[in-house]
Amino acid sequence: MQRPLSRRRFIGATAAAAALPAAPNLDAIEPAPPAKPVSISSANGLATTARAVKLMAGGGDTLEAVVSGVNIVEADPKDMSVGYGGLPNEDGVVELDSCCMHGPSFNAGSVASIRDIKLPSRVAQLVLKRTDHVMLVGEGARRFAIAHGMKAENLLTDAARRQWLSWKENLSDRDDWLSAREAAAGHEARPTGTITCLGLNPAGERSGVTTTSGLAYKIPGRIGDSPIIGAGLYVENAVGACGATGRGEAVIISCGSRIVVENMRHGMSPAEAVEDVLQRIVKQTVDPRLLDKKGRPDFEVVLYALRKDGKHAAGSIYKGRQYAVNEGAGSKLHDCLHILDR
Ligand code: ASP
Repeated sequence: MQRPLSRRRFIGATAAAAALPAAPNLDAIEPAPPAKPVSISSANGLATTARAVKLMAGGGDTLEAVVSGVNIVEADPKDMSVGYGGLPNEDGVVELDSCCMHGPSFNAGSVASIRDIKLPSRVAQLVLKRTDHVMLVGEGARRFAIAHGMKAENLLTDAARRQWLSWKENLSDRDDWLSAREAAAGHEARPTGTITCLGLNPAGERSGVTTTSGLAYKIPGRIGDSPIIGAGLYVENAVGACGATGRGEAVIISCGSRIVVENMRHGMSPAEAVEDVLQRIVKQTVDPRLLDKKGRPDFEVVLYALRKDGKHAAGSIYKGRQYAVNEGAGSKLHDCLHILDR
């Protein structure tokens, strides 16, 4: 039950509210959506953004466009960080995470730790469209996908199996089970990778999707940021969208994508919004296990932002990352901003 405000508390509350800056009127400060569809993605999304823009230009729904775009990478065994051919968990089993958001209906769908299904973003899209839920996990997500006619298949390719076997054979203190000694020592970077794709059409509708096999050799059942709304992805039609790749634990703890969108709501440009969250992540990283010799994070996070007017930016903690952009004239890689040099 809410307590009635005393006169003293009421005055205090009004004074605090008066001190807050007025929320900007986004319609007044930002121009209309772009004349042509725009799609941005992580650097592995050149073909993805091309397909997303083509579908949006033909009048396709923004969610269908971005999901169809990332399906290219999910089905590609050569990308060992997403979908089929992704590096497995520590038991040698591929477990996939994905979520999507549809701006016009402000709805979301997600699957986490799903096995045997090649295109997890399609399952996330089905959770959005064909359930009253947002998130399905593990065996329940798998059974839901099969009920919708998806094929259960072994996702472990020979190349991924060989890489996992070599890790397993050389296993020493490099797994995720931290003994008391290891918890106080360093943390070893392992192969990661993900694809995130955002799309915006001239009607101002936007959607996004993120999909991954997550951290290689993870503890079975480990869920990263990619299937978590507000972490690996956040979309708000009236403001903008953000997707994330990199160390999922840092993106979850910082609510990364959600804060980027919130920053844009309060008037920051996409670049400022991304930079602010990366700075927060650096400041929030205080566990010595996650710091390099210079006391800085020993991991990477990349955030990709697309504002309602089509302006975009992506940023990484360290220099050297790129992102894919398609504004109707072919997909190109752009440099990410960065906040630290190695
Ligand atoms: N964000 C992904 C995860 O933590 C991995 C990555 O993007 O590299 O599962």
